Amino acid sequence: MENVHELEQLRRQAEREQEKFATRIKAIQETCRHTWGEVKYTPDIQEAYTIPGDAPGTMGVDWRGPCYVPRKEIPKWTRVCKHCDKMEVTTKIRQEVTRIPTF
Ligand SMILES: [Zn+2]
Repeated sequence: MENVHELEQLRRQAEREQEKFATRIKAIQETCRHTWGEVKYTPDIQEAYTIPGDAPGTMGVDWRGPCYVPRKEIPKWTRVCKHCDKMEVTTKIRQEVTRIPTF
């Protein structure tokens, strides 16, 4: 049987080291003059699904049939810095109106 007390100590030690690395990474990323790679479209997708209805012959007049929930796509974009690997994710967009002269 392994010594739980010893394992717990090692786990805490690993946790502290992890925090140290996270702090170092954060410091580098905060001072980096980011060079962003290409912006990738990374939407959140919820596939379509069906909520099953009540069993036939049950529920009387309140009987409800199956309900179809369509696929949903939430637009999202991601970019990663080429130097420090900082990742930024956004769902924000700016609308721009293009004015084209027509004759
Ligand atoms: Zn960077």
